Amino acid sequence: MTTLLDLFKTMEYGPAPESPSAVNAWLEEHGRKFGQFINNEWVTPKAAKYYSSFNPSTGELLAETAQAEKKDVDAAIAAARTAFETWSETPGVVRARYMYAIARNIQKHHRLLAVLESMDNGKPIRESRDVDVPLLARHFYYYAGWAQLMETELRDYQPVGVIGQIIPWNFPLMMLAWKIAPAIAMGNTVVLKPASYTRLSALLFAEVVAEAGLPPGVVNIITGSGKAGEMIVTHPDVDKIAFTGSTEIGRTLRRLTAGTGKKLSLELGGKGPVVVFEDADLDAAVEGVVDAIWFNQGQVCCAGSRLIVQENVAPRFIQKLKTRMGHLRVGDSLDKSIDMGAIVDKSQWDTVDYWVKMGEKEGGKVFQPDITLPTKGLFYKPTLITDLDPAASTVQEEIFGPVLVSLTFRTPEEAIALANNTRYGLGGSVWSDNINLALDAASKIKAGAMWVNCHNAFDAAGGFGGYRESGFGREGGREGLFEYVRPKWMDRPQPDLTTLRLDAATNLPAEKKAWGEHIPSRPARPEAGRANGHGLPPVDRTPKIYIGGKQVRPDGAYTLSVVGAKGKLVGQVGDGNRKDIRNAVEAAHAVIEAKQGWAMRHGYNRSQILYFIAENLDARNAEFVKRIVEMTGRTQKSAQAEVDAAVERLFTYAAWADKYGGNIQETTLRGITVAVNEPVGVIGIACPDEYPLLGFVSLMAPAIARGNTVVMIPSQRFPLSATDFYQVLDTSDVPGGVVNIVTGDRDHLTKTLVQHEDVDAVWYFGSAEGSYWVEYESAANMKRTWVGYGLPRDWMDREQGEGHEFLHEATQVKNIWVPTGE
Ligand code: NDP
Repeated sequence: MTTLLDLFKTMEYGPAPESPSAVNAWLEEHGRKFGQFINNEWVTPKAAKYYSSFNPSTGELLAETAQAEKKDVDAAIAAARTAFETWSETPGVVRARYMYAIARNIQKHHRLLAVLESMDNGKPIRESRDVDVPLLARHFYYYAGWAQLMETELRDYQPVGVIGQIIPWNFPLMMLAWKIAPAIAMGNTVVLKPASYTRLSALLFAEVVAEAGLPPGVVNIITGSGKAGEMIVTHPDVDKIAFTGSTEIGRTLRRLTAGTGKKLSLELGGKGPVVVFEDADLDAAVEGVVDAIWFNQGQVCCAGSRLIVQENVAPRFIQKLKTRMGHLRVGDSLDKSIDMGAIVDKSQWDTVDYWVKMGEKEGGKVFQPDITLPTKGLFYKPTLITDLDPAASTVQEEIFGPVLVSLTFRTPEEAIALANNTRYGLGGSVWSDNINLALDAASKIKAGAMWVNCHNAFDAAGGFGGYRESGFGREGGREGLFEYVRPKWMDRPQPDLTTLRLDAATNLPAEKKAWGEHIPSRPARPEAGRANGHGLPPVDRTPKIYIGGKQVRPDGAYTLSVVGAKGKLVGQVGDGNRKDIRNAVEAAHAVIEAKQGWAMRHGYNRSQILYFIAENLDARNAEFVKRIVEMTGRTQKSAQAEVDAAVERLFTYAAWADKYGGNIQETTLRGITVAVNEPVGVIGIACPDEYPLLGFVSLMAPAIARGNTVVMIPSQRFPLSATDFYQVLDTSDVPGGVVNIVTGDRDHLTKTLVQHEDVDAVWYFGSAEGSYWVEYESAANMKRTWVGYGLPRDWMDREQGEGHEFLHEATQVKNIWVPTGE
């Protein structure tokens, strides 16, 4: 028998179990069997197949849930479509009331939701009670506010329509909140599919929503496998897909939605760095690592799973960490005094174990503390692997479990290089008592969320989302709203892809056709050689392309003839190829990464340069007008209006160059959360044919104003306005490499851009077919894309041709969280 003296000696906690009785009663009321939740009602499909949900801490069967078939998915989407008609017309102030009621109702059922979440997922009740469910409520309060304000603050926007939402199992309720709250606040309706391992809390949430009086069909929950997820994604009546999950499935969804005009946001995997500098408060940093990697058993997309610690303090730090690991308590998720619960499922447990063994194989030293685990249930010891090579797969791949790998560094530059040595970019933290160093490192690490002296802080008012293969789009904050709205002037794009004859299941063309193939041109037409009218042969002007601030010959030395109005030859341009694009990308990279590179310049400096471009363009106004008339056959007046609009547009972005840097987010953190609108990086831009000068300027200017460097593919039909532009750039102090221009076949050149690993985003304003391929091919490294689907856009119209939409595409939001106080 344990005596009081024994307890004093060990200071061991006893178990402090939370009661599962309310959850069991709820499950029993449903006969431990659930159908689909459509139109605020349980729909039990006849002859449905069922899936069993188990408690990973105990192995007990919790309930069975239906596996959706196509007809269930169709019914849910039809319900959401019908509801959309009225919900989208419901005034924002009324939607706000509903959302407020939902938030209140979540709080009323707080404990029930938390207990169910822990039983279904295996996470500690301490976390579901104190983090997941409070954040669930917080999201509905926060976005109730945006519903209230939409008509004034987002007056140029409308809802997108029916949204398909697919979420993973690690934070079932929190993920659901991140998706549903902004969507319905903006007047959309949703069909959400929870992950198979964790379906139950979404079903309880459905009842909480219905009880709060939300009109039927606004929120529908469908349970089913990945196949059901795919049915939602490929359904023609869905207007947007919001997905959180693995990068692999994210890639599949990018391909399945390519070219359809559906909006897409992807929150994918990560391998977050925790950078500990020598001057950090090491004890605080140890606690930070506990939060970073053992929160939710490390099944966190932004987990700090790569420890990067300064060499001179590394032995001391690792020792402290090992000691701390020895005090972590792993046990039943309903025990209030545990630190870590169970792994969600046996297959995930096996994956974690596979990676630990791999770490050992790769030469790592595996440390697991001598702590006891419960005898049954899916528990895994907190694990640290040291002595690995930075290129080891255990260091590069996401393990999604309680496994930390550690590396060391000597200088801050090395720390940043190691932190960025990943294909992901979701979250990370830096630990230092030197504020300058910490903020410098936080701003240089490429990730959507950076925490200074803390990790895994979240709030509805701060957006969350990735760089690179961690996906695109933001959830949370004002920035999260733009995933769920469309400019008012724009209808849902319905691109015409009939010529591609896409297969409904794979979204691939019925016949394999090589996109972007191009045979270089042959000698130009005879008119090219005609005299210039003065009896003399014309002085030959060898067409060039513009790379790194220099006019250079195209690699293949081929040329393209530019045929103007009435079939008259008006000039020649270089016919660029893959090599030219690669050179241009290299030049664009060099100038962005240089020490005082383009992205690092002040907005003031960039604005001065944009004003200078405008000034120099205006000085050659007549020449540009003449060229447009020659090429397009439009009237002098119309061409003049285009040139004037181009000058004005440069002024617009000169204005925006120092006014879109970000803001302070009003999160719940005691401290400062700064949202920085960072440049995306190197952007490849394929320009439209209409308005050869204005189209070019309208796309180039926002990109460079916000610190990106660009590879421009000018209008294929009328490229001479862009080649004339070289001189304007040359005389306007634009550093070489900021704007690179490669003329030629639009799709041929775009293909190289979109397949290029070092291009961060591609904007494409060519055909519907080209738009399809850009989106499809972008899946290879998940680069951001913005395409026109071959649909008309009035570049002369300020609403369509400039403004927030462009700035949004030219930036990615990074939130830096800085706690304050002693
Ligand atoms: P998956 O990508 O396997 O699954 C995510 C969701 O997609 C599940 O609902 C799943 O359904 C569904 N799904 C699976 N296949 C398809 C398909 N072909 N079409 C449509 N839907 C499909 O990820 P996990 O659930 O295993 O979650 C772990 C991953 O999620 C990790 O890589 C993690 O990094 C990432 N993640 C990212 C977050 C972020 O914010 N960036 C947050 C949380 C997790 P089913 O469960 O039925 O298979």
